[in-house]
Amino acid sequence: MENLKETTKTTESTKSTEITLKFIDMNLSDEVKRAVEAMGFESPSPIQAEAIPHLLEGKDVIGQAQTGTGKTAAFGIPLIERIIKANANSEFDRNSRLPKGIILCPTRELAVQVAGELEKLAKYRKDIFVTAIYGGESIEKQIRNLKRGVQIVVGTPGRTIDHIKRGTLKLEEITNIILDEADEMLNMGFKEDIELILEQITTEHQTVLFSATMPKPILQIARKYQNNPEIVKVISKELTSDNIEQSFLAINPNYKTDVLVRLLAYNGWESMLIFCNTKQRTDEVAETLIQKGYAAEALHGDLAQHQRNLVMNKFRHGRVQILVATDVAARGIDVDNVEAVINYDVPLDPEYYVHRIGRTGRAGNKGVSITFISGRREVYRLNDIERYSKSKITQGTIPTQQEVLAKKQLRFMENLKATINDEKKAEELEGYTALIEMLEIEGITPKQVAAAVLSLQLSNKPTDKLSEADIFDSGDRRRNGRGGRNDRGGRNDRGGRDRGGRNDRGSRNSSRRDDRGGSRDRNDRGDRGSRPSYKDRGNRADMVRLRIDLGATENVRKGDILGAIAGETGMRGDKIGAIRVNEKESFVEVPQSDVDNIIRVMNKSKIKGKKVEFEKA
Ligand code: ADP
Ligand code: MG
Repeated sequence: MENLKETTKTTESTKSTEITLKFIDMNLSDEVKRAVEAMGFESPSPIQAEAIPHLLEGKDVIGQAQTGTGKTAAFGIPLIERIIKANANSEFDRNSRLPKGIILCPTRELAVQVAGELEKLAKYRKDIFVTAIYGGESIEKQIRNLKRGVQIVVGTPGRTIDHIKRGTLKLEEITNIILDEADEMLNMGFKEDIELILEQITTEHQTVLFSATMPKPILQIARKYQNNPEIVKVISKELTSDNIEQSFLAINPNYKTDVLVRLLAYNGWESMLIFCNTKQRTDEVAETLIQKGYAAEALHGDLAQHQRNLVMNKFRHGRVQILVATDVAARGIDVDNVEAVINYDVPLDPEYYVHRIGRTGRAGNKGVSITFISGRREVYRLNDIERYSKSKITQGTIPTQQEVLAKKQLRFMENLKATINDEKKAEELEGYTALIEMLEIEGITPKQVAAAVLSLQLSNKPTDKLSEADIFDSGDRRRNGRGGRNDRGGRNDRGGRDRGGRNDRGSRNSSRRDDRGGSRDRNDRGDRGSRPSYKDRGNRADMVRLRIDLGATENVRKGDILGAIAGETGMRGDKIGAIRVNEKESFVEVPQSDVDNIIRVMNKSKIKGKKVEFEKA
């Protein structure tokens, strides 16, 4: 192919916030539909909606979308469908035990994650096996897996080449090759490996390339190895939301509902929306809230239209205060204005975020939006959202038990005063005064009456059993100066899920720091632009320079340092200043207020699998 531009069509997603398509309406096998259903996906994300049809047609595709937008299923679903089709049409394929598809991923962790997601998608197909091959695991074990017969291999480039060279990964029946996080693989220096693999595949095949960014080298690979590719981009459009106070809370994912309950108790919102990414979760959250005595209802696409109308009517009439919705379900609802929107899960697409929070702060009213984030990846997704929505999302604080109680009392007292001053209530109050007078005859003072009434109304019991240490890290408490709180989400969820119920396979935690090379590195490349420039990041005088005893010799890059600090301490990447990597040492500027904590935490951590020492430079 001579010139990519001449031969490609670009599909840029121009649809605004419309989410109409559902998986059940797509041209997919029943087994895949069932699997997607079991995973809780309702509608395809924009990149999925755009890419899947082209891929099903067998076209080569270049897909570009931000992190966390569902690229895995975007290539995974059509890959599985193609194998299903081949098996249905040919006895040879049905009986074959050789792989049909190879997916290349930059890191071992991603390979494991992608294999896990594909396994889930192929769950109802007994004829499709998936295996991951990567360095650091016994090659014999992988050889045994490959020998048993697999249809889909997910591998890191190095180990994939190893297996090809040993003859343990056979390419004679490959019909699909997918480069996932292609930009990241190139960044990590896998270009030659990838080309070597691509060149070894001589069968007729579909070549697919997914990437969050599209730097030149990627397009070069596309030009060389793809055939008339369809370019599918789902990228940011300019959107803003006014009147909405937007914040985020970094929370240990195990305590999201507890934090939610506490926020509700504190704020006393009368109408609000909570968004989750899956219908299962909307049910779970609504159920928990109902148990806590809230008038909540789940709203998702599984409800029949009349059920939805019923829920919506209750909501409009104030009989339901809280709707817990998926994006699809919320699309169809017309609510004028809610006081608050909580993103219980970070939306799959920045566009959804804008759509979600647009339900509040309408018509000159003030609105509040709070987004829960857990784990490092979500920090980056939040950065993407900020950039996309052109808004500032500030870090919020979670009210303490004491604050919740104080606020509740305050609210009650205000209601009390309003009732006393309400002329329409005068007559009713008059009636009650008679009751008080009767008690006075028994020697009870009005003050005693009032106190007893208050005690019946206001409970001093905490709204939840959550200790501050549960939600936050037990370490440094000084950070936000609000007495024992510290919103460092990143560290709390180690060992837990960081991506809302994604596959929880064992090996992920072993080297978390390496696992998101992808997101981190984007931050130190100009083309992403998600980090504010240094100038925006506060006063230089507030920054302190730290020395790190690793450098380019150890293959450490800026992104690794940024990612490790953000991931280990839960600090947002944009609070970290200039990073410089020399041969044998590196330097990073961090806010004065965080220095001690960073040194303490980082000196117990590793970067690129190596122990590090942070010290003041
Ligand atoms: P990316 O590769 O674009 O960074 P992933 O494929 O890892 O994103 O997907 C991010 C998360 O979203 C995963 O937990 C995945 O299971 C989930 N997900 C993907 N598609 C959907 C969907 N259509 N509906 C709900 N969740 C989805
Ligand atoms: Mg991905």
